[in-house]
Amino acid sequence: MTARRVWVVLQLKEGQVPRVSWDAVAAAQRLAGLLGTRAEAVLLGGGGPTGVAAAAREVAGRDLAAVHVAEHEALRGYTPGAYIGALAPALREARPDFVLFPHTYQTVDYVPRLAQAVGAGLLPEVTGFDAPAEGAGELLWTRPVLGGKLQARVRIKGDGPVLVSVQAGAFPAESGAAAAAPPGSDGGRGPAEIKPLAADLSAIRPDREILGYEEVGGSQVDLSKAEVIVAVGRGLGGPEKLGPIEELARALGGEIGASRPVIDSGWLPRERQIGSSGQTVAPKLYIAAGISGAIQHLVGMKGSTVIVAINKDPSAPIFTVADYGLVGDLHELVPALTAAIKAAK
Ligand code: FAD
Repeated sequence: MTARRVWVVLQLKEGQVPRVSWDAVAAAQRLAGLLGTRAEAVLLGGGGPTGVAAAAREVAGRDLAAVHVAEHEALRGYTPGAYIGALAPALREARPDFVLFPHTYQTVDYVPRLAQAVGAGLLPEVTGFDAPAEGAGELLWTRPVLGGKLQARVRIKGDGPVLVSVQAGAFPAESGAAAAAPPGSDGGRGPAEIKPLAADLSAIRPDREILGYEEVGGSQVDLSKAEVIVAVGRGLGGPEKLGPIEELARALGGEIGASRPVIDSGWLPRERQIGSSGQTVAPKLYIAAGISGAIQHLVGMKGSTVIVAINKDPSAPIFTVADYGLVGDLHELVPALTAAIKAAK
């Protein structure tokens, strides 16, 4: 039986490997472990001093079988045409069983077209997988559907490669296999071999001209560095009720975060959003007030050390990840908490 192959295509940010990509590496290592093989990484980028060499060396130290690098002027910035131009021939040639990607705006843009180009299956936004049958012959995948209201359990049918995008935070690198082999560590095998991606890159062309990038939002708040976050959800009822939340955050020396509806309604700026399409955070203390606990929110905060949930609905899913649950009206409980903290000080 030929060994099964698991690839992970990393997305880089200014030459660095962002957390979403390490999470994808952790997912690929877990999947490869289930299949009795070792994962291989793929990096794309421009050549020269701003290229991917440094990132490739860092990735090679993470207990992988190989690191495939495609360097070409057309890959200096992301465009779907150039990315598909590089990856499609490589996938046709190597026929990996699974190719994992972080689930990001970029991969949402090009991975479906790549799947179409190589005749591969596509599983977007995966949050989990396991092999219930002995011998890992059959994999069952989990992904949210209907805006996260339901979790679908999916079995893949047919042959051929499957392209899988994994949701940020669903396979946190800290607790995954990637953490077991931090940079420089290699599980005793030595760093993975770095080699050129086996694909003819001579004809690849960008199919878009990027005219420039603009940061969205004004003052940047990096919630990923906050030690305490008081996060608020739709249960707050309106922006005029934010005062007690701000007071609790002040009393704890923390930052304010929010679920997506709070941001979409304009109650707080976009940079405060936590979740799959916002920031991923891991503070020492995370207080979630009036947040139901949809999967898209949980993946952004479930790595917090201590989670306190305040919700008037005792069956709210947020309580499944909470260390402490307060069932009741946040408009009463938040001021009471603030008063107790001030008194304890
Ligand atoms: P709701 O689900 O409406 O929950 C409000 C909660 O408040 C309820 O549990 C209710 O019992 C409680 N409540 C009401 N009044 C009170 C009160 N007085 N006191 C105490 N509790 C009260 N969501 C994110 O958060 N982050 C993301 O990054 C994100 N990305 C997404 C990406 C995609 C592609 C999609 C489809 C969705 C995304 N979502 C995201 C949305 C997500 O699916 C949920 O809709 C959202 O998280 C729900 O926000 P919420 O918990 O504030 O609101």
